[in-house]
Amino acid sequence: METILVKMEKENPDAEGIRKAGEIIRAGGLVAFPTETVYGLGGDALNPDSSRKIYAAKGRPSDNPLIVHICRWDDIYKIAHPVPEEAEKLAKAYWPGPLTMILKKTDLVPEETTGGLDTVAIRFPQDPIARTFIEAAGGFVAAPSANLSGKPSPTLAQYVAEDMNGRIEMIIDGGEVGIGLESTIVDLTGEEPMILRPGFITKEMLEEVLKRVEVDRTILDANCRLRPKAPGMRYKHYAPKGDLTIIEGEPEAVTEAICQRSKAAESAGEKVGIIATDETARQYRTFSGAESVKSVGRRVDEAAVGRSLYRILREFDDENVTVIFSESFSQSGFGQAIMNRLLKAAGHHVERV
Ligand code: AMP
Ligand code: MG
Repeated sequence: METILVKMEKENPDAEGIRKAGEIIRAGGLVAFPTETVYGLGGDALNPDSSRKIYAAKGRPSDNPLIVHICRWDDIYKIAHPVPEEAEKLAKAYWPGPLTMILKKTDLVPEETTGGLDTVAIRFPQDPIARTFIEAAGGFVAAPSANLSGKPSPTLAQYVAEDMNGRIEMIIDGGEVGIGLESTIVDLTGEEPMILRPGFITKEMLEEVLKRVEVDRTILDANCRLRPKAPGMRYKHYAPKGDLTIIEGEPEAVTEAICQRSKAAESAGEKVGIIATDETARQYRTFSGAESVKSVGRRVDEAAVGRSLYRILREFDDENVTVIFSESFSQSGFGQAIMNRLLKAAGHHVERV
């Protein structure tokens, strides 16, 4: 299959390209598209064959459910029942935006889309290309991240093309995404609202709307033996080819330890990559002997850190880096999402110095 690549401006989606993309989805094909979080791999959420194709294109286990993307408020009532008051409040506060809600599904949604579950994950994205595309596609687009299973989610169309060329009908290139980490997932089907995956919409932001929000324990604790409630969180996700270790401690001790470990690894024949910040990158370039030093931005600029992380992991893969050291980041606010993804990429390998 030949994959068509269509470039468009975020603020001014190209009508002809969008029409074509919508047609492909309605005919049962697949289109990758930008959202504010990461690129999605879209198919018709109400067509079981489309969902099967998504799993096949990604190489993703078919018990790992997809998120259904909508572009009109009232469409939530077509695919979810009941819609509790909490869901309406959250939608009012954070939709369109990077928030996914889990609700009980209606019969309209095939089990192929929900990985056999009787619940459905729903998101109304903010990105203008995503919204016009979903509209053209019929209003219900199932989309996981547009990467091959086990690779970091794509933040640029170029990465989608690397993973998906020849596997899908079309890629819409809308430039670099804004957030760079996947949406927050909150489950509203249990007794208390529960965060299954941290994201840009933080626990504090959810608690401004709902009184109390729990966090799935498996997100916080590497040794927790419970089963994560979002099936996707079970898999070793977001893993770079290189062996990643997070070094944690006082800033000076961390830079010193990373320099030492990096020198030792380079002398042992490894190709080392370092995930640094603007504050420390120069020190590593001078003293660590590492082959590749990349900054995620200023340490305080969480938005920059979130946006750079997956790109840097992909770049290290392209450079065939074999060992990676990363500084650690604050766990508060959006930092919880950043550290969740970094810990997963590291297989929870953290050393304290
Ligand atoms: P991705 O689309 O790659 O961001 O992955 C979607 C995530 O949403 C995965 O971690 C899924 O396990 C999770 N998810 C989707 N639907 C449900 C659901 N009904 N219940 C719990 N988690 C879900
Ligand atoms: Mg994914």
